[in-house]
Amino acid sequence: MSDTWIEEIHKNEMRFGFRYTEKLFSGQSEFQKVEVVDTPCLGRVLLNDGLFMVSDKDEFAYHDMITHVPLYTHPNPKNVLVIGGGDGGTAREVLRHKSVEKCTMVEIDAMVVDACKEFIPITAQVFSHPKLDLKIDDGVKFVAETNEKFDVIIVDSTDPIGPATPLFGIEFYQNVFKCLSDDGIVVSQGESAFYEPDIQASLLKIKSEVFPMTSLYNFANMTYPGGFWSFTFASKKYHPIKNFDTERVKEDDLKFKYYNSSIHIGAFALPQFMKDRLNPYIKGFEC
Ligand code: SAM
Repeated sequence: MSDTWIEEIHKNEMRFGFRYTEKLFSGQSEFQKVEVVDTPCLGRVLLNDGLFMVSDKDEFAYHDMITHVPLYTHPNPKNVLVIGGGDGGTAREVLRHKSVEKCTMVEIDAMVVDACKEFIPITAQVFSHPKLDLKIDDGVKFVAETNEKFDVIIVDSTDPIGPATPLFGIEFYQNVFKCLSDDGIVVSQGESAFYEPDIQASLLKIKSEVFPMTSLYNFANMTYPGGFWSFTFASKKYHPIKNFDTERVKEDDLKFKYYNSSIHIGAFALPQFMKDRLNPYIKGFEC
């Protein structure tokens, strides 16, 4: 039995890892190191620059929650933009919604897409979907230049390192606001309340300076530091609980593994230490 471990080292302060049986892919792109390993615990795992991105076993938790919360808050999402998300899992979930006519996905790194196409079919199956418009480009540049309007924008990014750094800045969110329709919603990978409280607060603060309604919701998985992670939510019009129609979820009956109507509502309930820190940046969110 192989005794080789793949480990994520977080800020040179903590590390955690999984035993792997085979390294299926390793490459250095212009942007990052891309690796895929096979593990007994998680199945196939994608790492970018040594950080866990996606695993076969728990990808459903992240992709359900980043996608279905905004898509079931918006009453009729037709045109959706995903920034990042190179494994394909978010676009896969977006395209399960029958109202969606087009999903544009802007991923900066072709190597991530190609590695996932070859080795992570559970998420990359979406790349042959006829409603997917995949662009290999910088999401920062795309939102600055496009004239298109989107009902929902999902920022499925890596941590604020390298090309993902501007995805955590105010200029990016001013451009996101501009290319959202008048009732548009944006949800972004929102970091860890335990390990990255400053990045989390800074991201929500920026959104609160640009959007009339902002909040944050949590979910749990197996592969991100601490297992307790978040998404930031910002909206021009719709409240994620008051405007949420549970009947649509029931009618669609999409057989989710993580998402359901109760978790949609409950995920917005924040532990007190998060409320204390984030309350100044939670706007228009009385329930
Ligand atoms: N679920 C993951 C997580 O939170 O760890 C994120 C998955 S996805 C693989 C993140 C993707 O964002 C990466 O493939 C990366 O190349 C992409 N990315 C980073 N900066 C970007 C940018 N400026 N424009 C578009 N994509 C970007």
